[in-house]
Amino acid sequence: MKEQLLAIKEKALDSIENCTDIKECDAIRITFLGKKGQLTAILKQMGRLSAEERPVIGQMANEIRTEIEKTLVEKQGRLKLVQIEKKLEEEAVDVTVSLKEHKLGKAHPLTQTINEISAIFAGMGYTVVDGPEIDTVARVFDLLNAEENHPSRDPSDTFYIDDNTLLRTQTSSVQIRVMQEQKPPIAIISPGRVYRRDEVDATHSPIFHQCEGLVVDKGLTFGDLKGTLIYFAKQYYGEDMELRFRPHHFPFTEPSCEIDCQCFKCHGKGCPTCKGEGWIEILGAGMVHPNVLRNCGIDPEIYSGFAFGMGIERLTMFKHEIEDMRLLYENNLRFLSQF
Ligand SMILES: [Zn+2]
Repeated sequence: MKEQLLAIKEKALDSIENCTDIKECDAIRITFLGKKGQLTAILKQMGRLSAEERPVIGQMANEIRTEIEKTLVEKQGRLKLVQIEKKLEEEAVDVTVSLKEHKLGKAHPLTQTINEISAIFAGMGYTVVDGPEIDTVARVFDLLNAEENHPSRDPSDTFYIDDNTLLRTQTSSVQIRVMQEQKPPIAIISPGRVYRRDEVDATHSPIFHQCEGLVVDKGLTFGDLKGTLIYFAKQYYGEDMELRFRPHHFPFTEPSCEIDCQCFKCHGKGCPTCKGEGWIEILGAGMVHPNVLRNCGIDPEIYSGFAFGMGIERLTMFKHEIEDMRLLYENNLRFLSQF
C-alpha cells in the first residue's frame, strides 16, 4: 500500500509540474483527491490493514494529500500570474513607440514673398490683380510706350508664340488691362510669372516672378511714390531699412528711378554681397508716362500715376541671404523646409 501511495504522489506531482492551464489543475485535483479519486480509492482499502499499519498508512496518506494540495495551490497561483501578465501584454499600449509622423507642407519661399508683399499693399488699400501669362505685343510693349527698337522686343530675348502674342516679359501688361477696363482711382499690384530668354545661372532663370504696382488718381506726385515705397520697404525688411533713390530710364515712366536697399550684411560699408557698393537694387519705379495713360484712354491732364516693379526672386534671396537662385527651383525639401 505504501508503494501505491508513493506512486500516486509521484504521478500527481508530475502532472502538476507539467500542467500549463488553471482548468487542468482542477482536473488533477479531481483525479487524485476527489471523492472517486485515486487517493480516496486507496484510503477506502484501509479496512484491510492491520491495527498497527492503519495509523501509519493513514498519516502517510494525509501527508501526501496535503502535499499534493499545497503543490496544486502554488501551481494555480503561478499560472494565474502568467495569465495576468499575458493579458497585460496583449492589452498594453507602448507609450515609447512614436506616432507615425505627418509632416505639414507649407508655402514655397517665393509664394511666401508674394503673400507678404500682397498683405502689405492690401493694407494700404491696393487690390491684387492676376493676368494671363500669354499676352499681346500691344499690351506687353506698344501701349507701354516701348521704343520700336527696345531690346526686350527682340526674339533673342523674348519667347514669341507668333508675331502678335508672346509669353509676357513683365507683369506690366496687367497694368494696361486694368487701365483699359477700369476708371481711376486705381491702386493695384500684380504678382506673377514672367518669361525671358535667359540662360540659367545663379542670378538668372528663363522663368521668374515679378510684382508690379500701379496707382492712378488726381494729383499724385513723386512724393506719393517715395512715401509708398519707403513704407513698403520698412514693412517688409524692418523699420531700420534705408532706401536710396537713383535716377533711371524706363520707357513707360517719366521721371523714372531705381531704388536700392542698404546692404543687410555691411549696412552700407561695402562687402562681397553688395559687390562693394553698400547698396542692393530692389525696385524700379517712376511716374506713369503720359503716353501710357493716353494709350489706355486716361487723360494725363487730369490724372497722374506712379508705377513700380520688383523681382520676387531678388527680394526673397536678399531677405533670406540665398546666394544661388537655382536653389529656389530645385525643390529640394532640405532647402525649402528652412523657410
Ligand atoms: Zn554689403
